[in-house]
Amino acid sequence: MRKPILAANWKMNHGPSDARAFVRAFLAHTPRATDRTVVFFPPAITLHALQEALHDRPEILTGVQNVHDQPSGAFTGELSAGMARDAGARLALVGHSERRHVFGETDEQTGRKCDLLVRAGVTPMLCVGEKLEEREAGLTEQVVLRQLEAGLTALDAAHAATVLVAYEPVWAIGTGRTATPEDASTVHGAIRRWLRERVGERAQTMPILYGGSVNRGNAKLLLQAPDVDGLLVGGASLDASNWAAIVNA
Ligand code: PEP
Repeated sequence: MRKPILAANWKMNHGPSDARAFVRAFLAHTPRATDRTVVFFPPAITLHALQEALHDRPEILTGVQNVHDQPSGAFTGELSAGMARDAGARLALVGHSERRHVFGETDEQTGRKCDLLVRAGVTPMLCVGEKLEEREAGLTEQVVLRQLEAGLTALDAAHAATVLVAYEPVWAIGTGRTATPEDASTVHGAIRRWLRERVGERAQTMPILYGGSVNRGNAKLLLQAPDVDGLLVGGASLDASNWAAIVNA
């Protein structure tokens, strides 16, 4: 019922020339598939080149890694939800752990970003996840549910149900330490129960992705875990053959 979503977060990697070469190699390994959705989050400066390179594969979606929490103004270096839409972004990451913990993004900002994105017609992918010390203190669910509540705060149930959620434990991102499928499933189940309270039965159709040191060796098992509806992948999405193996897992 929920089609798996395989999403690549390129972070600050792959400019336009790299992206063109990547797509040539990736498409050579990746037949058209209707049973899964592939998404790329390139750096914003690469978005247009990537879209052009993918023009024969309109089923592959592209998005941006971040937007500002105001609709416009004197914010040098930033981009707005409306501009992202105008540039053809179908999705946007919100609250990625690097935005939260490197750039100081707050829960309140994630709420404003989700609101602006939904109004602009861009689907937010809201990232939530606990730090290692929070996990060790038994606070995983509390942290994740607080982040969810803040991210969806401005949205009514119908709009909240259009948001994609990515559970990314901070201790697993870029560390080579992956949550087990069982651990991921437990947190995804808690997220789904919370979403059911918030948006009712629509929660059944909301994709919840896992992210954190996914690679071609662990992708399949993670995707088979109950309530894991897709993967958000950083490091292992940078190489076309690795990424193709994950997409085809
Ligand atoms: C990410 O950046 O969203 C991520 C999950 O990174 P990695 O796959 O490298 O852990």
